[in-house]
Amino acid sequence: MEPLLIEHGVVVTLDADRRVIRDGAVMVEGTHITDVGKTDELHRMYAPAHTINASRKLVIPGLIDCHVHLAQALIRGCADDVSLLDWLGKYVWPLQGNFDAEDGKVSAKLCMLEMIKSGTTSFIESMTHTRYGFDGIAKALEESGMRGCLAKTIMDTPAYGRKQMMYEGMIEDGERSLTETTTMYDRWNGKANGRINVWFGPRSLGACSKALYERIAEEAAKRRAGITMHLCEVKEDLQYARRKFTKSPVAFANQVGLLTPRTVLAHAVWLTDRDIATLSKTRTNVSHCPSSNTKLASGIARVPEMLKKGVNVAMGCDGGPSNNSYDMIREMKLAAYIHKVRLSDPMTMPAETVLEMATVHGARAIGMEGKLGTLEPGKLADIVLVNLDSVHMVPNNNHVSDLVYAGTGTDVDTVIVDGRIIMENRDVKTLNEREIIGEARERASALLARTGVKLTTHSNYR
Ligand SMILES: [Zn+2]
Repeated sequence: MEPLLIEHGVVVTLDADRRVIRDGAVMVEGTHITDVGKTDELHRMYAPAHTINASRKLVIPGLIDCHVHLAQALIRGCADDVSLLDWLGKYVWPLQGNFDAEDGKVSAKLCMLEMIKSGTTSFIESMTHTRYGFDGIAKALEESGMRGCLAKTIMDTPAYGRKQMMYEGMIEDGERSLTETTTMYDRWNGKANGRINVWFGPRSLGACSKALYERIAEEAAKRRAGITMHLCEVKEDLQYARRKFTKSPVAFANQVGLLTPRTVLAHAVWLTDRDIATLSKTRTNVSHCPSSNTKLASGIARVPEMLKKGVNVAMGCDGGPSNNSYDMIREMKLAAYIHKVRLSDPMTMPAETVLEMATVHGARAIGMEGKLGTLEPGKLADIVLVNLDSVHMVPNNNHVSDLVYAGTGTDVDTVIVDGRIIMENRDVKTLNEREIIGEARERASALLARTGVKLTTHSNYR
């Protein structure tokens, strides 16, 4: 790749001084950022053939979505306005439990397309079931040009919390699910110039035996691999853990060795002060998913309290039936707003803090603190350009505020990962947008037809 100079933009560096550079420039050579500064300064030093004029654009680090279900893009809107148990038992599990590998691949591509188009460059896919086809998804990730951590689902108990209710098509065998994880790790981890990472994905509390959790912790530690799981998403998790293990879910996870700096807990809504202290001490990461938590009425995570105690809290969009979009810019707005109303404190969670969660904290959560999350020389060139001409961003008085409070994913114009332009002027170069949209529509209607799942809707279709 020839050297590239992004010039004349408003560069939001997120460096240690949190500099925002007007008429700024970013020099990219190969896969890395080699310089950041004022455009005229960089012009004096470099004259690359390839430049991008970023005037009236924000230049930000690529957004990092730390909790994604790739397989749920295909079932977007399929489980709205229902209780969590119905959401899982009547809609999400029967639909996902009838996926084949082609559905898994098309859903993953649709999801990645949406993420690229809304400025996400890295993500953690939290539960890849065998039936979704790990190889097809990993190939799609390679093709997309994005950076991803794919966690293979591991489970040996067909339950969710205390409910023995898991849908047949979602059940996996303990030994086999663990072996497949290590096989996929050997096959894919570090591939595509390090863009593909394979993680361990123990299913939520209740779906693994204590012995299996301990083996997961051990196998992941041996490989220095990441672990991600849903924890304390709903209040029932607390009751279940207290009854079964006589301790909180966090204390239990710590006991079996799951809490490490390589671990990302999704949701972490129901935490005590002691749990927060444990997460801080073990340097366990949390992915905050405010849309999912509010839509399913799970509760509101104690994010400002966690941040105050030094817990690394990143952000996640979760899935198509729980959010229902994979747009980190919209997610940032909700993350900023709900804590203000929960704590009756408009000064909590300023726009800059939320942007840090979506970039700097995300990089730390995926184990790439020194390599991603800011625009600085030496970092990998994962860069997003956001259009400041969008009418809802005008008159561009306050750039980070405009992005977090007024922006949407559709304002994203250009996306660069590993120094490679994967979207320019909203044209995705790595994935065939038109083809994916057509395939997703076909696959989704075939899936609904063969499962017989009837959607929840209050619309009066004629
Ligand atoms: Zn989830």
